[in-house]
Amino acid sequence: MSETKIPYKIYLDESEIPDSWYNVRADMSVKPAPLLNPGTGAPLTAEEMSGIFCEELVAQELDNDTAYIPIPQEIRDFYKMYRPSPLIRAYCLEKALGTPAKIYYKFEGNNTSGSHKLNSAIAQAYYAKKQGLKGVTTETGAGQWGTALSMACAYLGLDCKVFMVKVSYEQKPFRREVMRTYGADVTPSPSTTTAVGRKILEEHPGTTGSLGCAISEAVEVATSTPGYRYVLGSVLNQVLLHQSVIGLEAKAALDKYGVTPDIIIGCAGGGSNLGGLISPFMGEKLRGEKDYRIIAVEPASCPSFTRGKFAYDFCDTGKICPLAKMYTLGSGFIPSPNHAGGLRFHGMSSTLSQLYHDGYMEATAVEQTAVFEAAEQFARVEGILPAPESSHAIRVAIDEALKCKETGEEKTILFGLTGTGYFDMVAYQKYNDGLMSDYIPTDADLEIGFKGLPVVPGQA
Ligand SMILES: *Cc1c(COP(=O)(O)O)cnc(C)c1O
Repeated sequence: MSETKIPYKIYLDESEIPDSWYNVRADMSVKPAPLLNPGTGAPLTAEEMSGIFCEELVAQELDNDTAYIPIPQEIRDFYKMYRPSPLIRAYCLEKALGTPAKIYYKFEGNNTSGSHKLNSAIAQAYYAKKQGLKGVTTETGAGQWGTALSMACAYLGLDCKVFMVKVSYEQKPFRREVMRTYGADVTPSPSTTTAVGRKILEEHPGTTGSLGCAISEAVEVATSTPGYRYVLGSVLNQVLLHQSVIGLEAKAALDKYGVTPDIIIGCAGGGSNLGGLISPFMGEKLRGEKDYRIIAVEPASCPSFTRGKFAYDFCDTGKICPLAKMYTLGSGFIPSPNHAGGLRFHGMSSTLSQLYHDGYMEATAVEQTAVFEAAEQFARVEGILPAPESSHAIRVAIDEALKCKETGEEKTILFGLTGTGYFDMVAYQKYNDGLMSDYIPTDADLEIGFKGLPVVPGQA
C-alpha cells in the first residue's frame, strides 16, 4: 500500500478491541523473579498474597505461562466507552522536524482520567467486585491512577480509598475534586490515620510524601479493614498484562497498513504503559520472529533503569510490602520534586527489569527542561497537550527522528502518548516562565538509597 494512503488516525472498530490480554512472561525464557515474603525471604505464596490482593489478580500475578488470558465481557464493555484508542501518524510533527522518519503514536489520553491507567483500573475493580469485596485502597502520585480507579469503582459500585502523595494533594486540588466527584475518599499521605503514616511523620516531620509512603498506608488500611483489598496502578505483572491492550491495538492498527516499527519508545515510571505497548512486539522478539529497538525513557531525576541496581527491594517506604526484584534506587530514595509525578517511583516492573537485564531493551534518562521543550513543540504541531510523563517519550521520539534527518534513514518510530497534561499547568507555567530547573542526583545521593536495600538470603 502506498505511503500516502495511511490516514492521520488509524481507528479500529469496536469489535477489534482485543478479547484476550497477552502475557509476555509466557514467552520469556528467563521469567521475572518472584515476589518474596520480606519476613522469610521465601517466594510469596498465593495464599499470602490473597490477604493483600484479589484472588483472580493473584492468579494473574503468578501466571508466567499462559500467553493469552481472556478479557471478561464486562471489562470489554467498559473498554468500549473509550477504546479502541487511536493510533496517530504524526504527519505534522514529521513535517515540523523535516525528518524522513515516520512517526506514530498510540494516544491513551482520551478518557476522563487522562491516561492509560483506566485499562488496569477497570480490570482490578472488576475482580474485586466479583469476589464480593466492599472496596479497595490505593495510592496515587500525580493523581491519574487515583482518578482512573475512582471512575472504575463508581461504575461498579465499590468503595475507593485513595492515599494521595501530599505534595500532589496540595499542588493539584482539582485532581482531588475529580476523584471525590467519582465518590472516592482522598487522604493526603503521609497521614496520621495509619500507624505507618504516623511513624513516617515522626521520622521525617514536614515530609511532602512519596509514592512509597502512600503505598504503605494504603496496604495497611486494606489489610486491616474487612472486605477490602489493595490495588496498585503499575509495577506488578498483572498491571502490565492489562495494559497489553495498548500494544495489541497498536499492532493491529499497524498491521492493517503493513507497517512495522523499527523503534518503539515509551516513558517508564513503574513500567506499565511501556510494558503494555511493547508486549506483542516483545513477544515476537522473544520468539525470534522479528527484531525491534525498544527504548524506555525515564527522568534524569529518578533514573531507576539507567543508574539503579538490579536487586530485591521493598516497593514501599514503610517496608511492609513484599520484596520485588527490580531495577531500583532503594525504597528510601525520594526523588527531587520533578514535574512528572507518574515517573517518580524508586523501582521498576520486575518483568521489564528482567527484559532490560537480559538485553531485550534499552533505557535512557532525560532532563525535564528538554522534556518540556519537546512537549511544547508537540502541542503546537500535533494539537494534543501532553502529560509531562508522556513527554519523556516524545523527547526521545523527536531525538530519534532528528537522527534520521542527519542520516537520511526512513525509520518507523512508534511511541506511547500515555496522557494529557491539563492538570499539570503549574509545571507548564514554570516552564513558560523560564523557572524550570533540572536536578540530577549525584552518586552520593544515590548511595543513600542503595544503603537501604534489604539483605535477602541467597542474594548478592
Ligand atoms: C502513571 C503514568 C505514567 C507512568 O506509569 P507507567 O506505569 O510507567 O506507565 C506515564 N504517563 C502517564 C500519563 C501516567 O499517568
